[in-house]
Parts: sequence; structure tokens; C-alpha cells
Amino acid sequence: MLRLSRIGVYLLAQGLARSVPEKPRSTLLPATKRLTARMACGGGDEQRFRDPASNPRVVKLRELMNSDTQDAWDKCWEEGVTPWDLGKTTPAILQLVQSGSLPKGRVLVPGCGSGYDVVAMASAERFVVGLDISSTAIKQAKERCSSLPNANQFTFVEADFFTWQPKEKFDLIFDYTFFCAIDPSLRSAWAERIQELLKPDGELITLIYLISDQKEGPPYNNTVDDYEKVLNPAGFRAVVMEDNEIAVGRRKGSEKIGRWKQHVTKSFL
Ligand code: SAH
Repeated sequence: MLRLSRIGVYLLAQGLARSVPEKPRSTLLPATKRLTARMACGGGDEQRFRDPASNPRVVKLRELMNSDTQDAWDKCWEEGVTPWDLGKTTPAILQLVQSGSLPKGRVLVPGCGSGYDVVAMASAERFVVGLDISSTAIKQAKERCSSLPNANQFTFVEADFFTWQPKEKFDLIFDYTFFCAIDPSLRSAWAERIQELLKPDGELITLIYLISDQKEGPPYNNTVDDYEKVLNPAGFRAVVMEDNEIAVGRRKGSEKIGRWKQHVTKSFL
């Protein structure tokens, strides 16, 4: 009882955090990097730079990603070049948790970044694995989250989504700004991996950040069609595709929540 109510208080605090001004995201960074990290706060960035290509930190991100830099994602995390990071739980995730409509069991968040959504979904009924290729992202997420009341209901793993072999499959996979972050040539492989990692009756939830005006990436242009193009051949159908009314900043009006199942039967339609 005590444990549940502490988690309840934590989730409530996460919800309330939406109404207070955003804090600098990474107090774990050395002082010299803090300014960059503060500027990195996604919501604020997006208010100021409506076009990602005009955001100096997106320019820097693209420079790193398109260069021969080894571990380019990790370099971004080390330097605080994380313009995607909201610095708080994604409001749509809080709403899904509170609605009670999320599947229970094992959950995977590929490209979890700071891990706010991992923590928000974790409960006595839901064990959540946050996966990221960046050792810095995973280290920061662990440092920030390991003493939270629900800490034994989630874990952070440093691994490449495309090669990682977990011991058990998942009941739910949640993708937010991972699909649009990876090179478009990897999208079919992304869908195949989702199919391999999900239990046959598992659910994929994609919070889709629609982008259509970018000449390069990340984030790369993506549409609902792009998801269907790779997910349909892997046996997935969208059973829900709706606007995300509570998207943050520039993403408002540009996000859709897709809920996908394999082996679609009448009961899901
Ligand atoms: N979902 C997070 C982060 C999105 S940015 C959020 O919404 O804030 C994309 C993330 O994917 C980065 O943290 C990057 O380090 C990670 N990433 C990129 N390629 C990956 C791969 N092959 N396997 C696992 N993580 C990867």
C-alpha cells in the first residue's frame, strides 16, 4: 500500500511539473557544459526556432551525425546537444498512464534518452526497459532516476536497438522521436526489430512527430504513411491513429498517436 501511494505521489508531482516553468535539465553536467544543456531544453528551443534547421543546436546535431564522428549520439549527449529533450515526461504518456489504457507487463522504450517516459510508465504492473545507444544518456538517466520510489520497476540498458538481444519479449513498445531520429534507410530494419521484440499480442505505440519540411536530419521528415510502409509488411495495422492534442511547443498540431497491433482481429477494430 505504502509503495503504491508513494508512486502515486510521484506521478502526481510529474503531472504538476507541467504547470511550472522548465528547469535546466541537466544539473549533473559540469558547470562549463550547463549553459549548453540549459539551451538544449526542447520545448524552449522549439518556441524560439519554429524551423528546426534554424536552431543552432539542431545544426550542430546534424553536423555531428553527418560527420565521421565515432559514437555521434554519445557525443551529442556529452555536449548537451539534445534539442529533442523535453526535460520532463511527455504529457501524452502521463495521460495514457492515468487513463489506465496502457498494456501491463514488460515495456520497451527504444532510444529512451533522458528516460522520463520510462519512469512515468513503470509501476507494480509494468516493468519498463529504457534502451539507448549512448552511454552518457544511460549514465545520466541512471543517476537521476535510481533513487525514485519505483526504481525497481524500471531499468536502463546501454545497447544498439538493431542488435540487442533481450531474454524476454515485450507486451508494449513505445517509440517517441526514435523513428524520426534514425536514418530513413533503417526504417524497415526498425519495423522488423519491433516485430521480433514484441510478443505476438503485444502493442506498439508510436507518438509520431510529423515533419515534412526538412532537407536533412535528424529529425528526418516522416509521415503516417512512412510508418505504414514499413509496419504493414511486418504484420502491423494501426488500430488507433489520432491527433495528440497535448503536444508540447512547436510539436502542437504536428503529432499523432498511433496504436498498432499484429494479427488484427475484429475485436481490435
Ligand atoms: N525518446 C527520447 C530521445 C529521442 S532522440 C525523447 O523523446 O526524448 C533519439 C535517441 O535515440 C537518442 O537518445 C540516441 O542516443 C538514441 N539512439 C540512436 N540510435 C540508437 C540505436 N541504434 N539504439 C538505441 N538508441 C539509439
